[in-house]
Amino acid sequence: MQFKTIIEPFKIKVIEPIRITTEEERIKYLEEASYNLFSLKSDQVLIDFLTDSGTSAMSDNQWAGLMLGDESYAGSKSWDRMKESIHALTGYPFIFPTHQGRAAERIVYGKLGAKGKVFISNTHFDTTRANIEVTGAEAFDIPIPEAKETSVLHPFKGNMDIEKLESLITKHGKENIGAVILTVTNNSSGGQPVSMDNAKQISKICKKNGVVFILDCCRIAENSYFIKHREDGFENTTYFEIAQQMFSLADGCIMSAKKDAIVNMGGFFAFKDKDFADKCRETLIITEGYITYGGLSGRDMETIATGLHEVFDPDYLHYRISSTAYLGKKLHEMGVPVMLPIGGHAVYVDAKKLYSHIPPESYPGQALACDLYIKGGIRSCEIGSVMSGHNDAEGNFVCAPMELVRLAIPRRVYTQSHVEYVIEVFEKILEEHEKATGLEIIEAPRFLRHFTAKFRKLPVLTEV
Ligand SMILES: *Cc1c(COP(=O)(O)O)cnc(C)c1O
Repeated sequence: MQFKTIIEPFKIKVIEPIRITTEEERIKYLEEASYNLFSLKSDQVLIDFLTDSGTSAMSDNQWAGLMLGDESYAGSKSWDRMKESIHALTGYPFIFPTHQGRAAERIVYGKLGAKGKVFISNTHFDTTRANIEVTGAEAFDIPIPEAKETSVLHPFKGNMDIEKLESLITKHGKENIGAVILTVTNNSSGGQPVSMDNAKQISKICKKNGVVFILDCCRIAENSYFIKHREDGFENTTYFEIAQQMFSLADGCIMSAKKDAIVNMGGFFAFKDKDFADKCRETLIITEGYITYGGLSGRDMETIATGLHEVFDPDYLHYRISSTAYLGKKLHEMGVPVMLPIGGHAVYVDAKKLYSHIPPESYPGQALACDLYIKGGIRSCEIGSVMSGHNDAEGNFVCAPMELVRLAIPRRVYTQSHVEYVIEVFEKILEEHEKATGLEIIEAPRFLRHFTAKFRKLPVLTEV
């Protein structure tokens, strides 16, 4: 590409208005939401970077597919299309539709998990961990050490620590390992990619020990982009072929189609092993729906089939990754501490560094997320001690390894001028960062507390 300006490789056919709000209005909205951004109404938000999950814009082809959706209870043509597109990508023979990723997780980890079982991942996504822990099993995150240093440059910061993987298997006994789960890209750890080499090593260790190896593959196309451009030997391999290679290394996969299938709802799981698939099929029918629709409408299955094809388009992937990198690079140049290198679907701001005067127990990430909303109407997501901090057996606060704020970018939704606006809001945040104050939690549930916790803003510290 010879030009500096990133252009969206699509034009706009339908628009969705954004309601412009004032700072005064947003202060009131946030207070009413108890400082939890999940509790805001969408029309109170200007730029919604809460998540890239299910928030993407479908193409004209996908919308056209809605009319083709075959809503037959059994044997839907749309299921055949979805199944074939997944089969072409993964090569796995046993494929099951679910209404979203976590439904697939509940079925699969419900079978593999139990008290005494251990799961190992580069980083378990929050619903993955929750679905494992409700079975009584334990979940260990072993990203490479570089993953925790937000300013260290590493081409594949999403990689799993191979030495730790071997020692965990030895320590707990291979018969007690529920599964090894490789999350690509590593969502909870900066959206960082995983190399093919790392996946190969994991595959080898799992095979040697007879341990199940599962790809949590929500962002497999974005991961393939990084492999092609950063890992030796893939220059002449297509993104699709790179993804195929990675699937061939694992025993099965779970995908939230709300990410790289560019749809608003859907998911699936797929496996090589017939016996395991047979066990899952039963639960699928009991809890999700018949095997040719899972929890999905025929029209949704049509759009997934098309989206899984569109996401590997080189122009789309180039725009997607460059536009995310553009935002991250600009923030970095301004002096906003961001996780480097910039990940695929999101820019992660290091709130521990930006709001260094706020201790982890007062949730600097949540404080920054609130300030971004008040200053610019931007909704982001804390990935820090609100999400994964907890109290130990003695009641002491254990903070998360990092205090990040994720700006997750919906696919094909915002334009470059929206991105420029976000950069401007950060100028304001930088100017006033010393005045920021922390929060305390006044109410929270036991699992996944970040979704529903209520907060109170701590008073401004005045100098005596
Ligand atoms: C989104 C996500 C899930 C869960 O999928 P849902 O469709 O939200 O239920 C699991 N793993 C990863 C890595 C994800 O990003």
